[in-house]
Amino acid sequence: MTNRGKNDTLKRMKQIVEVAIGLPIFKTFHYLIPERMKESIQVGMRVLVPFKGRRVTGFTIDLVDRPPEGIEEKLKEVEGLLDEAPLIDPQMLRFYRWISDYYIYPLGEVIKTGLPPGLQLKSERVLSLTQDGRNALLQGNLDPVQEKAFREIDRCGKTPLKRLLKTFPGEASRLQLFAWEKKGLLNIETGIKTGEIKPKFERVIQYQGRQPLKLQSKKQKEILKWLEERREVSCTELANRFKSPSKILQSFQAAGLISIIKREICRSPSVQPELKAYPKPEPTPDQRAILSEISKAIQSNRFSPFLIHGVTGSGKTEIYLRAIEEVLALGKEAIVLVPEISLTPQILSRFKDRFGGNLALLHSRLGKGERYDQWRKVLRGEVSIAIGARSAIFAPFKKLGIIVVDEEHEPSYKQEDKLKYHTRDLAVVRAKQADATLLLGSATPSLESYYNAEKGKFRLLTLPERIGGRPLPLVEVVDMKEQEGLLSEKVKVALQKNIEEKKQSLLFLNRRGFAHFILCPDCGFTFKCPNCSVTLTHHLKDRSLQCHYCDYKIEPPGDCPKCRGYRLRGIGVGTERLEQEIRALFPGTEVGRMDRDTTTRKRSHQQILKKLENGHTDILVGTQMIVKGHDFPNVTFVGVVSADTSLHFPDFRSTERTFQLLTQVAGRAGRGETVGKVIIQTFNPDHYSILRAKDHDFIGFYKEEIQFRDALDYPPFSRLINFRVVGNNEKRTKKAAEEMGRIGQLLLKQSYQKGIDLLGPSTAPFSKMKGKFRWQMLAKGKSFRLLHQVARELANRLEDSIKGTGVNFDIDVDPVFIL
Ligand SMILES: [Zn+2]
Ligand SMILES: [Zn+2]
Repeated sequence: MTNRGKNDTLKRMKQIVEVAIGLPIFKTFHYLIPERMKESIQVGMRVLVPFKGRRVTGFTIDLVDRPPEGIEEKLKEVEGLLDEAPLIDPQMLRFYRWISDYYIYPLGEVIKTGLPPGLQLKSERVLSLTQDGRNALLQGNLDPVQEKAFREIDRCGKTPLKRLLKTFPGEASRLQLFAWEKKGLLNIETGIKTGEIKPKFERVIQYQGRQPLKLQSKKQKEILKWLEERREVSCTELANRFKSPSKILQSFQAAGLISIIKREICRSPSVQPELKAYPKPEPTPDQRAILSEISKAIQSNRFSPFLIHGVTGSGKTEIYLRAIEEVLALGKEAIVLVPEISLTPQILSRFKDRFGGNLALLHSRLGKGERYDQWRKVLRGEVSIAIGARSAIFAPFKKLGIIVVDEEHEPSYKQEDKLKYHTRDLAVVRAKQADATLLLGSATPSLESYYNAEKGKFRLLTLPERIGGRPLPLVEVVDMKEQEGLLSEKVKVALQKNIEEKKQSLLFLNRRGFAHFILCPDCGFTFKCPNCSVTLTHHLKDRSLQCHYCDYKIEPPGDCPKCRGYRLRGIGVGTERLEQEIRALFPGTEVGRMDRDTTTRKRSHQQILKKLENGHTDILVGTQMIVKGHDFPNVTFVGVVSADTSLHFPDFRSTERTFQLLTQVAGRAGRGETVGKVIIQTFNPDHYSILRAKDHDFIGFYKEEIQFRDALDYPPFSRLINFRVVGNNEKRTKKAAEEMGRIGQLLLKQSYQKGIDLLGPSTAPFSKMKGKFRWQMLAKGKSFRLLHQVARELANRLEDSIKGTGVNFDIDVDPVFIL
């Protein structure tokens, strides 16, 4: 060993490792490193550690010489080292630490979120017979159920408890098993559950050369010839071609004619972008100007955040592609974030066309194994671009040069359960930590991002025109107070005209199902979900009343269950009913529908869009799924059936959301030669979100909305943290909420009284969801540091007082990232 190597080893030979455990616990823990691991253990690996009588997966986050004072004697040993090389490099660890700190979320859980699923080993209970148990079985005086169970355990050796219960459903119960353990007949211990995602291997035959083999049968000759032609072939392929070849292969191998090796294969993603050629367009003068700005930033190797505000159809994608080409040429890597991968097939196939196999696809629609393989391609530096929805922000690149966030305003970038991160905000942080370029692009930037640009924190780049100077569509607003029925005369006329001219139309309605809810006009009864505080939506096709938040489903009764009235009536229209109505209005036309109900199958999104693309569909009805960046030149008319759905949502961003949706959906019209036309139907024709969308006037909207935010002290002028308690028991949840309020007020009085307001506790906008009762309290303040202090302190104190009550506490930091 060289001197240097020796020193490195010595440096690594630490005694103690600090571990973040993949459980909801804020503390990290220290363990002793056993002698056998001292040379191999490194920061960023998975370890198996004992924890409260179980064994759990943890992540090594530091190696130290001695533990923090006062806990030396309690230290336990690491039980297993699960990786040969680190999964997490120091850069990623720094990123994870930042996330843990900002979102007040345990580090181990943050790391778990960032890694592909299936890497967590879990412990499980395992059964085995004791000597007494075995004797009892031999003596044969057990009751039938016990005998069956014992026989099975005896046969299998160590048997997982869950598997045993599954083998004899309804017979041996968990209680019985524990009773037998008490009697000393069974051992129940904690073991490690397998099922970890691992690399996939295949066996490959390599042809080595011609060496005469005596006694060749006809089949041997055939196989040998086939192998010689191919030189290298997988065993599966061979087995598909020839029947039971293994004996022959063995003889070939023995004679040195072939060798068989094991090779890792990549499970290719089941959701693949379509292969299509896109001519590489010459940049327009606007694009060129923007690209030269971006280029300077890329060459500078410094953190450079840009907000690209470009109207729909102005060519943002080409800017992303060229910027990435430049980054790649410098030997660096790129992350591309898109709001929802299955809804953006076009952008995907454009990337595939430009960069070929140099892409990893990271998103939750892939199978676990596929996702793991894609992630490993990034980890090993086999690809330079990762593209995906939220989770792609965790792509473990080491030389990150650029992050692109397309449609940066999209609410789907916010993760809504567990770690409630905002992907765009994480992109800002990661780009900053990596000294990378950041491109946020949108036709309707979020208020926060545009505010940041105004304040000079992001550089603003503008693409004011559509490619080819195509005009933006003409938008008309129709006041539905003066109309009857679902569709105004104007919309009907426009649809009819498009059908005659063989053009295509989109109809946007942001509500699926047939009727929004069912009402009894005699007594006012509505059907509500027993698990959630919402009404049930009527679906005609599968004759059901459904809850759109949990999976509750019932058959609609004929009469009112309350007053026996027979006049039950559907109120509020969904896409299913709209589709039916369109079919009745325009018989003989091809009508398609795209919403959650029609896209449950894996490739259904693509199929629906394909039909639109090849001209099969005349009218496509859909929810916000049709709003995303599709580009169909023959779509010349877009109708918004009701602009009011999102306007009344109980959230201070609902106005912004409405403006964004309307502008984006209108942007789908007239991407080809013909000027597009858009009609917006609404009961609020004078609302500024609707009027500004009509004029494609983002700046005008921004100016009005930002005044409103300022006046009410909403973000970006203040910071918000939402605290929520959620529990199965109504009384206990309410009590926990009161306790939360009490601690909150106490904290304000004690030390943080300046500049923080607490609103609530009160029941959450949906006070019951999936069977759980929900209360919330909002903290609002200018100083994020202070808000964080309060949040931490509150979390600490509340967690103690609600321990064991079955009520959970969670913290949601509002996405208002300001550097
Ligand atoms: Zn009734
Ligand atoms: Zn429900």
